[in-house]
Amino acid sequence: MKTAGWWYKLLALSFFTFHTIRVEAKSDKKPNIIFILADDIGYGDFGCYGANKIRTPHIDSIAHNGVIFTNAYSPASTSSPTRYALITGEYAWRKKVGILPGNASLSIDTSAYTLPRLLQDAGYCTGLVGKWHLGLGTPERPVDFNKEIIPGPLETGFDYAYFYPATNDRVPCIYIENHKAVNLRDDDPIEVSYRHKVGKEPTGKENPELLKLKSFRGHDGTIVNGIGRIGWMSGGRQAHWTDETMGEVFLERAIHFINQQKVHEPFFLLFATHNAHEPRVPGPLFKGKSNAGIYGDVIEEFDSYIGEIVKALKRKGIYDNTLLIITSDNGPQIKEGYEDGGLESLNRHDPYSGLRGTKGSLYEGGARVPFIVSWPDQQIKPFVQDQPFCFIDMLSTFASLTGREISASQSKDSRDASSLFFESQVKTYREYIMIQDNSGNVALRKGDWKYIPSSIPDKAELYNLKDDYKEQANCIEMEKNKFSELNDYYQTEYRSVNHLK
Ligand code: CA
Repeated sequence: MKTAGWWYKLLALSFFTFHTIRVEAKSDKKPNIIFILADDIGYGDFGCYGANKIRTPHIDSIAHNGVIFTNAYSPASTSSPTRYALITGEYAWRKKVGILPGNASLSIDTSAYTLPRLLQDAGYCTGLVGKWHLGLGTPERPVDFNKEIIPGPLETGFDYAYFYPATNDRVPCIYIENHKAVNLRDDDPIEVSYRHKVGKEPTGKENPELLKLKSFRGHDGTIVNGIGRIGWMSGGRQAHWTDETMGEVFLERAIHFINQQKVHEPFFLLFATHNAHEPRVPGPLFKGKSNAGIYGDVIEEFDSYIGEIVKALKRKGIYDNTLLIITSDNGPQIKEGYEDGGLESLNRHDPYSGLRGTKGSLYEGGARVPFIVSWPDQQIKPFVQDQPFCFIDMLSTFASLTGREISASQSKDSRDASSLFFESQVKTYREYIMIQDNSGNVALRKGDWKYIPSSIPDKAELYNLKDDYKEQANCIEMEKNKFSELNDYYQTEYRSVNHLK
């Protein structure tokens, strides 16, 4: 593999020989688990994956002492489907979950077995800090941001949640703590619409002169903090977030959650940052600091969060028994809705590390993501994990790591990938990996092969990623047997159950 460059080749050569095979957890003590889920950060964005214009010393240090995955996939190439799959262990296409507006109903069945519920059962205190994007309320009782906001994260298995409803480019631009909008005043209620303008607040469309970031492609609804958003909102001015301090606010909440935990009781934190999703508005300490423009700045800011989280864990004396995972919900799209100069100032930094496609696509650039694992107590020798892996499997993997038996109906589409966390050369833990785009179309990975089906027969694609990681040479005509093997699986596991296709 050339994609992450020389660094991991070197690491692989240095460590493959020495690392110890250790599948069983070394101690009976359950680890704390922190799953750090970036937004739209790419395969090539960290130093340990080959970036040299963006400094990520904290992430690199964790990777150098942990496990670095070179073939890890997010379950989807967009936000909501990936998050749905992570939390439920179920393919989002089964429930037709695509990118959700900020006033969508909760996409997760509140009676479903979920990853945070599994961890609650295992004795964990579970927290969410950051992005939610899985809907709130129900179709019968749509969310009213002025009232109790329910059901939401707490009804899917989180004990604590401090979050924003959808994306940082969508209304409502507010934080919610558990069931309540933060800093909302009774005399200034919020109204939200994704159909038409509400209230008298200026919009990007009508008042572009008020914008600090020029926007396009529908990012011209209500202006909040000088930025046009998708959708319209009125009121709730005291509750509006400030993009410049968003990182700071969530980091403070994450550290507060860690500090509140009892030392001998395990916790799980899903820390879902807004970096590097548009609009990119780094805090003042990071603006203009990277060598890859504003895009690099928000990734350096993301790296600083990791440094602070590690510090907090060490201060509490629990770093060694914390399983820390760093990944991203999908690949990047550098210019999606704002003229922030990000694309123009990349300075030859390649967020995709040569992979084809972007966020939203079924090519590798859409869903192959960085994935780094650290758990110092296990004394795993650092290694590079080249096995294909998808983080839809965290539900079953965490069940295994915390010693919980779960049924097939609870694990749904997720499989136990825990062996990949402990040894570099393991047998494939699942034959097929399936990723999806926002419309529910899927691509399959099996071994070195990648199949992108199409309803138009001669448009289907087959690539051998070992020789062609850039997906340039469609070999479907030459590899008839491989094509029919992957297509049979696709027809049986996907098309036959997905009646709309
Ligand atoms: Ca995303």
